[in-house]
Amino acid sequence: MLLSQNNSIKSSIAIAFIVAAGIFSLSAEETTTIRLPGQHLQQHGDLLANQGNTAIQLDNATKYLEGLFSDEEEPEFDIYTEGWDSQMVNCYSGVTVPQTANIDVSKYAIPHPGYITSPYGYRRRWRRMHKGVDLKVNVGDTIRAAFDGRVRLTKFERRGYGYYVVLRHTNDLETVYGHLSKFLVEPDQYVKAGDPIALGGNTGRSTGPHLHFETRYMGYAINPCAIFDFANQTTHTDIYTFDKATYQKPRNFSPKANAEYAAKYRIENPPKPYVRDRSTNSNSSSSTVYRVKKGDTLGKIASRNGTTVARLCRLNGITTNTRLQINQKLKLR
Ligand SMILES: [Zn+2]
Repeated sequence: MLLSQNNSIKSSIAIAFIVAAGIFSLSAEETTTIRLPGQHLQQHGDLLANQGNTAIQLDNATKYLEGLFSDEEEPEFDIYTEGWDSQMVNCYSGVTVPQTANIDVSKYAIPHPGYITSPYGYRRRWRRMHKGVDLKVNVGDTIRAAFDGRVRLTKFERRGYGYYVVLRHTNDLETVYGHLSKFLVEPDQYVKAGDPIALGGNTGRSTGPHLHFETRYMGYAINPCAIFDFANQTTHTDIYTFDKATYQKPRNFSPKANAEYAAKYRIENPPKPYVRDRSTNSNSSSSTVYRVKKGDTLGKIASRNGTTVARLCRLNGITTNTRLQINQKLKLR
Protein backbone atom coordinates (compact mmCIF):
# COMPACT_ATOMS: atom_id res chain seq x y z
CA MET A 1 0.00 0.00 0.00
CA LEU A 2 2.70 2.47 1.04
CA LEU A 3 4.93 1.43 -1.80
CA SER A 4 2.28 1.75 -4.43
CA GLN A 5 1.39 5.24 -3.17
CA ASN A 6 5.04 6.29 -3.30
CA ASN A 7 5.38 4.97 -6.80
CA SER A 8 2.27 6.71 -7.95
CA ILE A 9 3.57 10.05 -6.65
CA LYS A 10 6.86 9.60 -8.44
CA SER A 11 5.20 8.70 -11.68
CA SER A 12 2.78 11.61 -11.32
CA ILE A 13 5.69 14.02 -10.87
CA ALA A 14 7.35 12.62 -13.96
CA ILE A 15 4.16 13.21 -15.92
CA ALA A 16 3.91 16.72 -14.52
CA PHE A 17 7.38 17.58 -15.83
CA ILE A 18 6.61 16.35 -19.30
CA VAL A 19 3.45 18.41 -19.36
CA ALA A 20 5.29 21.41 -17.94
CA ALA A 21 7.84 21.26 -20.73
CA GLY A 22 4.97 21.40 -23.20
CA ILE A 23 3.34 24.34 -21.50
CA PHE A 24 6.50 26.39 -21.22
CA SER A 25 7.03 26.14 -24.95
CA LEU A 26 3.76 27.99 -25.59
CA SER A 27 3.89 31.71 -26.04
CA ALA A 28 1.49 33.66 -23.86
CA GLU A 29 0.67 36.11 -26.67
CA GLU A 30 -0.38 33.31 -28.98
CA THR A 31 -2.64 31.47 -26.57
CA THR A 32 -4.06 33.90 -24.01
CA THR A 33 -7.67 34.84 -24.53
CA ILE A 34 -8.68 37.61 -22.16
CA ARG A 35 -12.35 37.51 -21.29
CA LEU A 36 -13.30 41.14 -21.25
CA PRO A 37 -15.62 42.55 -18.59
CA GLY A 38 -18.15 43.21 -21.36
CA GLN A 39 -18.39 39.51 -22.06
CA HIS A 40 -18.88 38.82 -18.39
CA LEU A 41 -21.68 41.36 -18.22
CA GLN A 42 -23.33 39.77 -21.25
CA GLN A 43 -23.11 36.37 -19.64
CA HIS A 44 -24.39 37.68 -16.34
CA GLY A 45 -27.21 39.48 -18.13
CA ASP A 46 -28.23 36.25 -19.86
CA LEU A 47 -28.28 34.44 -16.54
CA LEU A 48 -30.45 37.14 -15.00
CA ALA A 49 -32.76 37.21 -18.02
CA ASN A 50 -33.44 33.52 -17.48
CA GLN A 51 -34.62 34.24 -13.97
CA GLY A 52 -37.78 36.09 -14.92
CA ASN A 53 -38.66 38.45 -12.09
CA THR A 54 -35.79 37.63 -9.81
CA ALA A 55 -33.57 40.57 -10.76
CA ILE A 56 -31.57 41.60 -7.74
CA GLN A 57 -32.00 44.94 -6.05
CA LEU A 58 -28.75 46.65 -5.17
CA ASP A 59 -30.03 47.29 -1.63
CA ASN A 60 -30.62 43.61 -1.05
CA ALA A 61 -27.27 42.72 -2.51
CA THR A 62 -25.53 45.20 -0.24
CA LYS A 63 -27.42 43.96 2.79
CA TYR A 64 -26.60 40.40 1.87
CA LEU A 65 -22.96 41.30 1.39
CA GLU A 66 -22.68 42.62 4.94
CA GLY A 67 -23.50 39.23 6.40
CA LEU A 68 -21.87 37.16 3.73
CA PHE A 69 -18.44 36.51 5.16
CA SER A 70 -19.31 37.03 8.83
CA ASP A 71 -19.37 33.33 9.62
CA GLU A 72 -16.13 31.85 8.44
CA GLU A 73 -16.80 28.23 8.66
CA GLU A 74 -13.73 26.31 9.61
CA PRO A 75 -10.20 26.92 10.83
CA GLU A 76 -8.69 24.64 8.23
CA PHE A 77 -5.60 22.89 8.82
CA ASP A 78 -3.16 22.93 5.94
CA ILE A 79 -2.85 19.40 4.56
CA TYR A 80 0.24 20.37 2.60
CA THR A 81 2.20 21.14 5.74
CA GLU A 82 0.39 19.83 8.80
CA GLY A 83 -1.79 17.00 7.66
CA TRP A 84 0.33 15.26 5.07
CA ASP A 85 1.21 11.71 6.03
CA SER A 86 4.87 10.80 6.14
CA GLN A 87 4.77 9.24 2.71
CA MET A 88 3.03 12.30 1.34
CA VAL A 89 4.96 15.08 3.06
CA ASN A 90 5.86 17.72 0.54
CA CYS A 91 5.90 15.64 -2.58
CA TYR A 92 7.55 18.66 -4.20
CA SER A 93 10.55 18.79 -1.87
CA GLY A 94 13.79 19.22 -3.81
CA VAL A 95 11.84 20.46 -6.81
CA THR A 96 12.58 24.01 -7.86
CA VAL A 97 9.36 25.96 -8.31
CA PRO A 98 9.74 28.37 -11.22
CA GLN A 99 9.22 32.10 -10.63
CA THR A 100 6.50 32.13 -13.24
CA ALA A 101 4.69 29.51 -15.31
CA ASN A 102 1.94 29.58 -17.88
CA ILE A 103 -0.83 27.13 -17.06
CA ASP A 104 -3.52 26.15 -19.52
CA VAL A 105 -6.89 26.46 -17.74
CA SER A 106 -8.98 26.69 -20.91
CA LYS A 107 -10.59 23.28 -20.43
CA TYR A 108 -12.22 23.67 -17.04
CA ALA A 109 -15.32 22.88 -15.03
CA ILE A 110 -16.48 24.82 -11.99
CA PRO A 111 -16.47 22.16 -9.22
CA HIS A 112 -19.83 23.33 -7.88
CA PRO A 113 -22.03 26.29 -8.85
CA GLY A 114 -22.40 27.53 -5.25
CA TYR A 115 -21.33 31.07 -4.39
CA ILE A 116 -18.34 31.93 -2.21
CA THR A 117 -19.19 31.83 1.49
CA SER A 118 -15.63 32.45 2.62
CA PRO A 119 -12.85 33.84 0.44
CA TYR A 120 -9.18 32.91 0.24
CA GLY A 121 -6.88 34.87 2.52
CA TYR A 122 -5.81 35.56 6.05
CA ARG A 123 -8.45 34.83 8.68
CA ARG A 124 -8.05 37.10 11.63
CA ARG A 125 -10.39 35.00 13.72
CA TRP A 126 -8.30 31.86 13.38
CA ARG A 127 -4.96 33.66 12.90
CA ARG A 128 -4.16 31.60 9.85
CA MET A 129 -4.40 31.58 6.11
CA HIS A 130 -7.45 30.17 4.43
CA LYS A 131 -5.79 28.54 1.44
CA GLY A 132 -8.87 28.05 -0.67
CA VAL A 133 -12.39 29.31 -1.12
CA ASP A 134 -15.52 27.88 0.49
CA LEU A 135 -18.43 27.32 -1.86
CA LYS A 136 -22.03 26.88 -0.78
CA VAL A 137 -23.29 23.31 -1.25
CA ASN A 138 -26.05 21.12 0.06
CA VAL A 139 -25.09 17.69 1.43
CA GLY A 140 -25.23 15.24 -1.47
CA ASP A 141 -24.60 17.81 -4.24
CA THR A 142 -22.32 16.58 -7.03
CA ILE A 143 -18.74 17.89 -6.91
CA ARG A 144 -16.87 17.86 -10.23
CA ALA A 145 -13.23 17.69 -11.30
CA ALA A 146 -11.99 21.18 -12.21
CA PHE A 147 -9.60 19.95 -14.96
CA ASP A 148 -8.47 16.73 -16.63
CA GLY A 149 -6.16 14.66 -14.46
CA ARG A 150 -5.77 11.84 -12.02
CA VAL A 151 -6.81 11.24 -8.44
CA ARG A 152 -3.72 11.56 -6.24
CA LEU A 153 -5.50 10.66 -3.02
CA THR A 154 -8.78 10.33 -1.19
CA LYS A 155 -8.48 10.72 2.52
CA PHE A 156 -10.06 11.59 5.85
CA GLU A 157 -8.80 14.33 8.15
CA ARG A 158 -10.85 14.69 11.29
CA ARG A 159 -9.37 18.00 12.42
CA GLY A 160 -9.70 19.79 9.12
CA TYR A 161 -10.88 18.77 5.71
CA GLY A 162 -12.99 15.75 6.67
CA TYR A 163 -13.25 13.52 3.62
CA TYR A 164 -11.16 15.12 0.88
CA VAL A 165 -9.85 14.46 -2.59
CA VAL A 166 -6.64 15.73 -4.19
CA LEU A 167 -6.47 15.69 -7.99
CA ARG A 168 -3.26 16.09 -10.00
CA HIS A 169 -4.06 17.72 -13.32
CA THR A 170 -2.47 17.48 -16.74
CA ASN A 171 -1.98 21.27 -16.65
CA ASP A 172 0.31 20.89 -13.57
CA LEU A 173 -2.21 22.24 -11.09
CA GLU A 174 -3.49 20.25 -8.16
CA THR A 175 -6.95 20.82 -6.74
CA VAL A 176 -8.24 19.92 -3.27
CA TYR A 177 -11.91 19.31 -2.41
CA GLY A 178 -12.81 19.15 1.28
CA HIS A 179 -15.70 18.38 3.72
CA LEU A 180 -17.14 15.79 1.32
CA SER A 181 -19.79 13.24 2.30
CA LYS A 182 -18.91 10.55 -0.24
CA PHE A 183 -16.12 9.70 -2.69
CA LEU A 184 -17.09 8.81 -6.26
CA VAL A 185 -13.48 8.15 -7.37
CA GLU A 186 -10.51 6.10 -6.21
CA PRO A 187 -6.80 6.96 -6.04
CA ASP A 188 -4.97 6.68 -9.39
CA GLN A 189 -8.21 6.92 -11.37
CA TYR A 190 -8.13 9.25 -14.40
CA VAL A 191 -10.77 11.97 -14.55
CA LYS A 192 -11.91 14.51 -17.13
CA ALA A 193 -12.89 18.09 -16.34
CA GLY A 194 -16.49 17.98 -15.16
CA ASP A 195 -16.50 14.33 -14.07
CA PRO A 196 -18.31 13.76 -10.76
CA ILE A 197 -15.66 12.99 -8.13
CA ALA A 198 -17.58 13.24 -4.85
CA LEU A 199 -20.69 14.42 -3.05
CA GLY A 200 -20.67 17.60 -1.01
CA GLY A 201 -20.93 17.42 2.75
CA ASN A 202 -20.03 18.75 6.15
CA THR A 203 -17.32 16.38 7.40
CA GLY A 204 -14.24 17.43 9.36
CA ARG A 205 -14.07 20.81 11.02
CA SER A 206 -17.05 22.46 9.45
CA THR A 207 -20.16 24.06 10.87
CA GLY A 208 -22.34 23.81 7.80
CA PRO A 209 -22.32 22.03 4.44
CA HIS A 210 -19.78 23.62 2.09
CA LEU A 211 -17.02 22.72 -0.33
CA HIS A 212 -13.50 23.82 0.54
CA PHE A 213 -11.74 24.19 -2.81
CA GLU A 214 -8.03 24.80 -3.35
CA THR A 215 -5.94 25.32 -6.46
CA ARG A 216 -2.25 24.50 -6.00
CA TYR A 217 0.80 24.80 -8.18
CA MET A 218 3.70 22.69 -6.88
CA GLY A 219 2.41 23.17 -3.35
CA TYR A 220 1.73 26.92 -3.67
CA ALA A 221 -1.92 27.58 -2.80
CA ILE A 222 -3.10 29.94 -5.52
CA ASN A 223 -6.12 32.11 -4.81
CA PRO A 224 -8.84 30.24 -6.75
CA CYS A 225 -10.30 33.66 -7.59
CA ALA A 226 -7.13 34.38 -9.59
CA ILE A 227 -8.10 31.57 -11.97
CA PHE A 228 -11.88 31.32 -11.65
CA ASP A 229 -14.56 33.98 -11.81
CA PHE A 230 -17.13 32.23 -9.61
CA ALA A 231 -19.79 34.95 -9.94
CA ASN A 232 -19.79 34.41 -13.70
CA GLN A 233 -19.03 30.67 -13.57
CA THR A 234 -16.04 30.96 -15.87
CA THR A 235 -12.25 31.38 -15.86
CA HIS A 236 -10.69 34.82 -16.25
CA THR A 237 -8.37 33.75 -19.07
CA ASP A 238 -7.45 30.58 -20.96
CA ILE A 239 -3.88 30.76 -19.68
CA TYR A 240 -3.24 31.46 -16.00
CA THR A 241 0.20 32.88 -15.40
CA PHE A 242 1.49 31.67 -12.05
CA ASP A 243 3.80 34.25 -10.49
CA LYS A 244 5.39 33.62 -7.09
CA ALA A 245 4.89 37.31 -6.29
CA THR A 246 1.16 37.51 -7.03
CA TYR A 247 -0.38 34.03 -6.72
CA GLN A 248 -2.31 35.02 -3.56
CA LYS A 249 -4.12 37.88 -5.25
CA PRO A 250 -7.57 37.48 -6.79
CA ARG A 251 -8.28 38.81 -10.24
CA ASN A 252 -11.32 41.05 -10.73
CA PHE A 253 -12.91 39.58 -7.59
CA SER A 254 -15.91 41.65 -6.62
CA PRO A 255 -17.71 40.86 -3.35
CA LYS A 256 -20.70 42.72 -4.78
CA ALA A 257 -20.83 40.46 -7.86
CA ASN A 258 -20.51 37.46 -5.56
CA ALA A 259 -23.37 38.74 -3.38
CA GLU A 260 -25.57 39.24 -6.43
CA TYR A 261 -24.71 35.78 -7.68
CA ALA A 262 -25.41 34.39 -4.17
CA ALA A 263 -28.84 36.00 -4.02
CA LYS A 264 -29.72 34.55 -7.40
CA TYR A 265 -28.27 31.14 -6.51
CA ARG A 266 -30.30 31.00 -3.30
CA ILE A 267 -33.54 31.59 -5.18
CA GLU A 268 -32.74 28.70 -7.53
CA ASN A 269 -31.29 26.46 -4.83
CA PRO A 270 -33.10 27.04 -1.54
CA PRO A 271 -31.02 25.71 1.34
CA LYS A 272 -32.23 22.24 2.26
CA PRO A 273 -32.98 21.48 5.88
CA TYR A 274 -29.76 19.95 7.03
CA VAL A 275 -29.85 16.62 8.85
CA ARG A 276 -26.58 15.42 10.30
CA ASP A 277 -25.70 12.10 8.77
CA ARG A 278 -24.27 9.60 11.25
CA SER A 279 -22.70 7.44 8.57
CA THR A 280 -20.65 10.21 7.02
CA ASN A 281 -19.99 12.51 9.90
CA SER A 282 -16.46 12.65 11.17
CA ASN A 283 -17.24 13.42 14.76
CA SER A 284 -17.03 10.67 17.30
CA SER A 285 -20.64 11.33 18.16
CA SER A 286 -23.39 13.08 16.34
CA SER A 287 -25.27 13.83 19.55
CA THR A 288 -26.25 17.39 20.21
CA VAL A 289 -25.62 17.44 23.95
CA TYR A 290 -22.32 16.82 25.73
CA ARG A 291 -21.94 15.83 29.37
CA VAL A 292 -18.85 17.44 30.93
CA LYS A 293 -16.20 15.01 32.21
CA LYS A 294 -13.32 15.46 34.65
CA GLY A 295 -10.45 17.40 33.05
CA ASP A 296 -12.57 18.88 30.25
CA THR A 297 -12.03 22.39 29.02
CA LEU A 298 -14.15 24.28 26.52
CA GLY A 299 -11.26 24.04 24.04
CA LYS A 300 -11.03 20.24 24.37
CA ILE A 301 -14.79 19.80 24.10
CA ALA A 302 -14.92 22.08 21.05
CA SER A 303 -12.11 20.39 19.16
CA ARG A 304 -13.35 16.85 19.92
CA ASN A 305 -16.82 17.69 18.70
CA GLY A 306 -15.97 19.64 15.60
CA THR A 307 -17.10 23.01 16.93
CA THR A 308 -15.53 26.16 18.36
CA VAL A 309 -15.30 27.65 21.86
CA ALA A 310 -17.11 30.76 20.63
CA ARG A 311 -19.96 28.66 19.34
CA LEU A 312 -20.20 26.64 22.57
CA CYS A 313 -20.34 29.87 24.56
CA ARG A 314 -23.01 31.31 22.30
CA LEU A 315 -25.16 28.17 22.39
CA ASN A 316 -24.95 27.73 26.13
CA GLY A 317 -25.01 31.33 27.28
CA ILE A 318 -21.63 31.03 28.96
CA THR A 319 -18.24 32.74 28.64
CA THR A 320 -14.70 31.39 28.48
CA ASN A 321 -14.43 32.20 32.20
CA THR A 322 -17.42 30.07 33.19
CA ARG A 323 -16.38 27.21 35.46
CA LEU A 324 -17.54 23.87 34.02
CA GLN A 325 -19.17 21.40 36.41
CA ILE A 326 -18.73 17.65 36.03
CA ASN A 327 -21.88 16.14 34.45
CA GLN A 328 -23.01 19.58 33.30
CA LYS A 329 -24.81 19.32 29.96
CA LEU A 330 -23.63 21.51 27.09
CA LYS A 331 -25.43 22.01 23.82
CA LEU A 332 -23.07 21.19 20.95
CA ARG A 333 -25.20 22.42 18.07
ZN1 LIG B 1 -12.37 26.46 3.49
